[in-house]
Amino acid sequence: MTSTPPPPRYDGYIFDLDGTIYLGERLIPGAAATVARLRAAQRPVVFLSNKPLEPRASYAAKLTRLGIATPAEDVINSTQALMHYLRDHHPQAGLWVIGEQALLDELRGEGFRLVTRLEEIEVVVAAFDRTLDYAKLNMAHQALVRGARFLATNGDRTCPMEDGAIPDCAGVIAFLEATSERRVEMVAGKPSRHILEAAVARLGVPLERCLMVGDRLATDIAMGRAAGIATALVLTGVTSREALATSDVQPTYVLESVTEVP
Ligand SMILES: [Mg+2]
Repeated sequence: MTSTPPPPRYDGYIFDLDGTIYLGERLIPGAAATVARLRAAQRPVVFLSNKPLEPRASYAAKLTRLGIATPAEDVINSTQALMHYLRDHHPQAGLWVIGEQALLDELRGEGFRLVTRLEEIEVVVAAFDRTLDYAKLNMAHQALVRGARFLATNGDRTCPMEDGAIPDCAGVIAFLEATSERRVEMVAGKPSRHILEAAVARLGVPLERCLMVGDRLATDIAMGRAAGIATALVLTGVTSREALATSDVQPTYVLESVTEVP
């Protein structure tokens, strides 16, 4: 006798990538079948990445290569979260962005206004930037002193540092906060609610009907808890049962792997 699996319990699914769907270049066994099962049941699925360096098309291509055919629009990273916030709050603002060319191109491509004159800068955005120089920092500093809004893509240390001489996004924020006596007002990436809001906008279902699935307590699970939604911790990534036992952050579900998502 075969039993039919119960229908998915949630209306939308938000998956972390590394440690949850794949480990490096290897798919977590059963992840493709799990995503296929959810999609077959008409449950929309999005994937979150906190890394600002790769465009989301690269993550979509990687997922597709590994057996989970995914359009770029179903990948949400801190850049998408930033743009979601900007569309809601500062759609026409003059932006000064400390970031790499790919980010500037993406913002311009989405219709945002990048400006170069100090008087025109209404919003300063700090992002990871391997081409950071004094001129960029100084312009950001001047604009903040004049009262520009202060936003960032990532506030934690997840931005990769390829050599010690290059500050990550958190380093840029710290420098600008110290020199301008301003505080960053919004950080778009995990564990901020803004990346969840961008994900939910893509899913098209109410936030409270979504399940957040990830391997990190401090980002994936804490973010879902703060937003008041159900969370599932998978044990295929960085978190051990021992670490979970002593953590203040507790998920709704603890799963051996993504294949067990309810
Ligand atoms: Mg992860």
